[in-house]
Amino acid sequence: MGLVALGSGAARSAAPGPVSYTVTPELKGADLDALAVDVRLDGDADGETWMRLPENWSGVSDLQKAIHDVRAEGAKLQRVGKAELKLTHAPGAPITVRYRVRQDFKGELSAGGPPFRAAISKDRFTGLGWALFAEVSGPVGRPVEFRWGPTPAGWALASDLDHSVRVANTGELLDSVLVGGRGMRIVEAPAAGGRLRVAVHGDWRFHPQELSNLLVKITEASAGFWGDHGEDFFVAVTPLRAPGGGTAQYGVGLGDAFSLWTTTDVDSAALKHIVAHEHQHVWFPTRVGGVRTGKDEPLDYWLSEGFTDFYTLRLLLRSGLWSLEEFVEDYNRILRAYGASPVKTAPNNMIPAAFWEDPAIADLPYQRGLVLAAMWDYRLRTSSGGRHDMDDVVLAMKTRAGGVQNGRAVENLRLSFRQFGGSLDSDFTTYVEGGAAVILPADLFGDCARVTTTDEPTFDRGFDTARTNEAGGVVAGVDPDGPAFRAGLRNGMRITGRLTPANTGDAKTDLAYRVDAGGAEKIIRYRPEGRRVPIQQIELTAGMDAAKRAACAKVMSGG
Ligand SMILES: [Zn+2]
Repeated sequence: MGLVALGSGAARSAAPGPVSYTVTPELKGADLDALAVDVRLDGDADGETWMRLPENWSGVSDLQKAIHDVRAEGAKLQRVGKAELKLTHAPGAPITVRYRVRQDFKGELSAGGPPFRAAISKDRFTGLGWALFAEVSGPVGRPVEFRWGPTPAGWALASDLDHSVRVANTGELLDSVLVGGRGMRIVEAPAAGGRLRVAVHGDWRFHPQELSNLLVKITEASAGFWGDHGEDFFVAVTPLRAPGGGTAQYGVGLGDAFSLWTTTDVDSAALKHIVAHEHQHVWFPTRVGGVRTGKDEPLDYWLSEGFTDFYTLRLLLRSGLWSLEEFVEDYNRILRAYGASPVKTAPNNMIPAAFWEDPAIADLPYQRGLVLAAMWDYRLRTSSGGRHDMDDVVLAMKTRAGGVQNGRAVENLRLSFRQFGGSLDSDFTTYVEGGAAVILPADLFGDCARVTTTDEPTFDRGFDTARTNEAGGVVAGVDPDGPAFRAGLRNGMRITGRLTPANTGDAKTDLAYRVDAGGAEKIIRYRPEGRRVPIQQIELTAGMDAAKRAACAKVMSGG
């Protein structure tokens, strides 16, 4: 790398060159101290250039707190507000802005909120472009370059930005993930005419090679379906700690990459789902027209997340990565969660405000979009005598988008559906905007499976665990109509022990607590059954032979 020879600041009339970013891991002794970011650019012709440090992104805020030692060469630098940088300089002067990124939280990444802040520990780092790069304001589409600085001895560095030095624009620069570490493992494989790379931090239940093999199959199935071959793809995997036990996964699709954070005990089915889901984000929503941006973005999540899940399930079955049974099991998991959702009928306009705060609201667009896609797929198959299904619609959406991402994915769906199966307008009003519950038809999958509907109790502890934990075990928020009250639990009793294993949500498994009730010890045991709600589940037809199973895999995956 080396320092730029800074010019005298003489005015230049030529169009500004690319903005060039260099990221260098800086070690102090043997340990990583910071990521140094150098930004080289030609200043604006009017002698004033503005830059913006990372600030807010996808539910995380104050990202600028991780940015330190901001300096400029070739310009006078002034910090304005939290994250704006004003550069004053000779017209068109070459400028270098440098800063360091340091982790701004203590300890390792842990579950309990999106892990999108830059994680920089002594022997590794994971950072999204959104958390690392200062944006230069000015014309949209200004070319951008990315390079790594020197690689520390014994380290490996990787990013989707490696796909070429020249990055199309600032949007693509930000939509990236950068990882590096001492001994970080990178597996590379050809897939669907392109190059796939997987970079893995730490130790896992799976070998990086297994993850790479899985991704090759997913990439080839997706490329075959969408007709997109010859693209490079990158996956970064970072471990996440769950201090309270349990598993957690987060993924972010980044166009030509995704970043995955998960607890290391992730099981094979959950891993397949999240990997296929994040990979489908290459197409949903960007290549079918894109979703709205800014605060309205979550209004379109039912399409961008729900259709992604619908195609996740289909492609896992179609590619043979899942058996019919595994497909049905994952489908049923989502149908059960949708059926039991306390916000199942929330109107779409409730989603933006609560998406990052309420986990039930955050799950709803995934569930609602999936069941809507399933319902519309059924309608197309039945009305066309089996000639058309959702595959025709989403491929038409891609054609209609024509490579342009202008926030019109929902509109492209409306127009493309009309080509094959009539109007969705009243469904948009009823189910999306109105939030009406979607009931799938019993013969959704013809004679391959039956969709059953039964009233089942939801899981309900019957008291407020968060408030009880906060109060050091003194019971709070007992619902007088709930199962804990009926078993004798009262506000003000103190829980001194739990006699049953941690229950993650099974309404049919008893809970038992030892409590101190004003000096007297009591055992409170009950079944955590809450209100009864209709739950739909898919039941495969029994006794199908191999030929019938293969035919059903085709019907159920749309293949
Ligand atoms: Zn997603």
